[in-house]
Amino acid sequence: MSMTFAGRVAVVTGAGAGIGRATALAFAAQGLTVVVSDVDVVGGEATVRQIEASGGTAVFVRCDVTQEADVQHLMEQTISAFGRLDYAFNNAGIEIEHGRLADGTLDMFDAIMAVNVKGVWLCMKYQLPLMVAQGGGVIVNAASVAGLGAAPKMSIYAASKHAVIGLTKSAAIEYAKKKVRVNAVCPAVIDTDMFRRAYEADPRKADYAAAVHPVGRIGTVEEVASAVLYLCSEGAAFITGHALAVDGGTMAI
Ligand code: NAD
Repeated sequence: MSMTFAGRVAVVTGAGAGIGRATALAFAAQGLTVVVSDVDVVGGEATVRQIEASGGTAVFVRCDVTQEADVQHLMEQTISAFGRLDYAFNNAGIEIEHGRLADGTLDMFDAIMAVNVKGVWLCMKYQLPLMVAQGGGVIVNAASVAGLGAAPKMSIYAASKHAVIGLTKSAAIEYAKKKVRVNAVCPAVIDTDMFRRAYEADPRKADYAAAVHPVGRIGTVEEVASAVLYLCSEGAAFITGHALAVDGGTMAI
């Protein structure tokens, strides 16, 4: 399988922590130049320092993916600094614990949809023309197993991740002949700050989270990063419009 990324340029949103940071580090380890982006400046700059400490090349561009001007600026900065955009991992996302559907609030709905859906749509809106103009590229969007099935007590989040898959599949078809591939990763529970925030209040929930995965454990950020790199690689040249579960067998039950 070809993983020849050297000399290429990748943008990762939400790269100041968790899955985004691990993927930025994995891209850099393959010789890519990485544009690390996050609304959190401290986290994003820490990711850049980690990449540089291991000999890689990265820059930080602050971007709140809910803001069109920020997203446009991120893509413009990438082109003005490096002249191309080969890979994009649209990873920034939020999850708010809210109980059953009727317990949700309009503020929660708007906040989740703004980051998880509008953010991914805005990123692709500004990435696709650049990739078409340069003759190709690969986009991977962060969905979730909550985009493939029910997510009790996370209905708004589930709706947002189903929407990410809808955006992914539609863009994949629209741009297939332009040599831009668009896929999604669908992690189950992954050991990140998002996971710890959700489970720290009740350690029994953490045990339960491990047990619901057929492999008997939750996933690691590196395992999601590997899936993103595979989807970006030439080894995945015939894969587009796919929502890849990275879930220890959860969706097979
Ligand atoms: P995380 O909370 O550890 O990190 C998310 C990063 O996104 C943070 O650095 C945060 O500052 C950034 N971010 C938040 N809002 C933003 C905005 N408006 N603009 C730019 N950046 C913003 O989360 P994570 O667990 O690494 O999750 C990453 C992605 O993977 C999310 O889309 C999430 O929904 C998805 N996912 C996570 C899990 C899991 O178990 N952790 C499972 C399935 C899917």
